Amino acid sequence: MKNMKNLFQKLAPKQMYNSFENAIKQLDKVAQIKNFGDEFFARLKQPNRDIRISIPIKMDNGSIKIFEGFRIQYNNALGPYKGGIRYHPLAEINEMKALAFWMMLKCAVAGIPMGGGKGGITVEPKNLSKKELEKLSRGWVQRLSDVLGPHKDVPAPDVNTTAEIMAWMTDEFEKISGDKSRATFTGKPIEEGGSEGREKATGLGGFYVFDTLQKKLGLPEKCKIVIQGFGNVGRNTARIFAENGHIVTVVSDSKSAIFKKDGLNLEKVEAHKKNTGGLKDFPEAKNITNAELLELPCDLLIPAAFENVITDANANKIRAKAILELANGPITPEADEILFKRNIPVIPDILANSGGVTVSYFEWDQNLKNEHWTEKEIFEKLKPKMEEASGKILEKARESKTSLRMGAFILALERIQKKML
Ligand code: NAD
Repeated sequence: MKNMKNLFQKLAPKQMYNSFENAIKQLDKVAQIKNFGDEFFARLKQPNRDIRISIPIKMDNGSIKIFEGFRIQYNNALGPYKGGIRYHPLAEINEMKALAFWMMLKCAVAGIPMGGGKGGITVEPKNLSKKELEKLSRGWVQRLSDVLGPHKDVPAPDVNTTAEIMAWMTDEFEKISGDKSRATFTGKPIEEGGSEGREKATGLGGFYVFDTLQKKLGLPEKCKIVIQGFGNVGRNTARIFAENGHIVTVVSDSKSAIFKKDGLNLEKVEAHKKNTGGLKDFPEAKNITNAELLELPCDLLIPAAFENVITDANANKIRAKAILELANGPITPEADEILFKRNIPVIPDILANSGGVTVSYFEWDQNLKNEHWTEKEIFEKLKPKMEEASGKILEKARESKTSLRMGAFILALERIQKKML
């Protein structure tokens, strides 16, 4: 019973909000700011393809279990569909459609020649053995191989999918199609054709974006930073901001947040998490809740965990000077409106976390050219892309006297429309 309660608390935000409705509300809002024509918007309100599959797996105990899987191919005006594969017990079509829609915009904002896609399987991967997980992952590729490929659709890891899973999928795709480029999946292990720098890419890209906009948004030179999440994105982001002279006062995981006014020692925090399995009771800090952390005064709040954490219920209580969205969709459209009216700038996810997909694109490019770039080369290519996108979005937002999110939508939609007409 206690477990059920915990599961509900963890999953509640996903059940209470339909992310695809939110995505469409955002699109409707752009229509009020700039006229792109009704036909274009009508086309963008549904994905090009929305594919549901069933994957039968022989479990270790000999029984057959059928899993439901998806691939959304939202739009490929700019290039092959691109987007992660999510394994989650609540993975469902509306969430996938929203994430694929945002991927379409994100690739356009980052200026990379790829479209928007997303996929997944409704499954709790922790309940599967490694053998079952491998069969399931290969099964997903078997069902979808016809619509995947380096020039058709290039998936990547997302929540609960790993480099190892990408390696199984790459191998399965190669067996079926004979394509040996390894360019159909990104986020692979380095030795299987993966790229240097992928792990840090989202956090570092977010930092480059912040660094470009910091002064223009009137933020101090040394910012006090609150971060929600301490997974791949949160952990790397915390380290990168601290290395660049900022003060990280809060980080959190699903069980607890830890707060230290004059800054956390992140090396010690990582060691504590490794030794105890969580952040709670870190000796030098105060335990607070994930809800409390969002409302702390700070220069920059970075949601880096999951969707819909800032809503109309808490947007009025936010005391950050600015927000950098590294999670996908952490702010609902209603909350966005409130924050805009309160003059709290939000650097939107489709810009802020686009460093991840940009380095995925670099991986695809390296695979196709049969090259392997150093981490230094990767980051040198990433930085100007993030700076350019940030500058352009600020310009669009100022031109239309709107939010940075709407500025990012306008830039992305202009680029997509040019190729769709
Ligand atoms: P992750 O699974 O590595 O980490 C997620 C973090 O969120 C963990 O620290 C976890 O403890 C925490 N968390 C889980 N449930 C929570 C809850 N109820 N309250 C507070 N914290 C909770 O995932 P990640 O790869 O770091 O991704 C985080 C977000 O960033 C997601 O929205 C993802 O879509 C987005 N994102 C990730 C990448 C990437 O490169 N990994 C790229 C773009 C966007």
